[in-house]
Amino acid sequence: MRRVGGLDGRALEKRLNSLVGIDLVVRITDNLHTMLSFGRSEGRLIVRLHRMFLHASHGVLEALARYIRSGDREASRLLDRYIESNRHLIRKVPAHERRKRFPLRPRGRYHDLQAYFDELCRRHFGRRLSCAITWGRVPRVRLPRRTIKLGSYSADARLIRIHPALDQAHVPPWFVQWIVFHEMLHHVHGVRRGRRRVHTPAFLRDEKRFPYLEEARRWERENLDSLLWWDSRADDGRGSRST
Ligand SMILES: [Zn+2]
Repeated sequence: MRRVGGLDGRALEKRLNSLVGIDLVVRITDNLHTMLSFGRSEGRLIVRLHRMFLHASHGVLEALARYIRSGDREASRLLDRYIESNRHLIRKVPAHERRKRFPLRPRGRYHDLQAYFDELCRRHFGRRLSCAITWGRVPRVRLPRRTIKLGSYSADARLIRIHPALDQAHVPPWFVQWIVFHEMLHHVHGVRRGRRRVHTPAFLRDEKRFPYLEEARRWERENLDSLLWWDSRADDGRGSRST
C-alpha cells in the first residue's frame, strides 16, 4: 500500500468498517475512470476506491458509508462533487499505453473478433470505433464456474475483451457478435462519471437494434451450461453471467 498523505489504505478500511458497520475490504486503485465501486466476492464486501479517497474528510467518508449501505441519493451527489473536485489526482495515461498490458489476439479458432467488430462498426455505427478488441486470457477456475463474464469493456484501455469460452465451434457467430455489440455500446455510451457503468434506457434502446437479440438471449439461456463447463484444456469439448 502506498502512503500518499492523509490516511493509508488500512486506516481508511478501518474507518469505513466502523462507519458502515460491516466487515468490508477496501482496495485502493489508481483507476482512470471508475473512482468508486463495490460488490461482493466470496461473501465479503469489496469496496474499490480511487486513491483520492485517502484524503477524504470525515464528512465524505460518512457519505460514502451511507451510499454503500443504502444508495442514499444525497450521499451520492456529495460523492460526485468530491470526485469532481479531485479530478487533478487522476492519472492521465493514453489508452494505447494502457493497452500494452494486453496483447491483442482477436483471431480465435472459430471466431474472428476483428472481423465481427469491423462488420458491426460498418453496419451499426457508420464509423470506425476507436477501441480495440481481443480474446481474453484463459482464467484459472474450478469447474463448473458459477458465473461467467462473457464480455467486458475497459474504458481505461479502450479495449473490449471477450471470454475465450465463446471460441467454440457450437457457439453461433451471431451470439458472439451480440456480446461484441453489447461491449461496443459500452464504449459508445461511455462510463458514467466515477461510477460503475449501468445499462441506461438509452443503452437498452440501442441494444435492440441488434437483429438477433431475442435469438441470442434464448441461446444464452439454453447453452449457459456449456459455457460454465468450458474447459480450456479440453478445447473441443462442450465446454448468471454479466457483461
Ligand atoms: Zn453491459
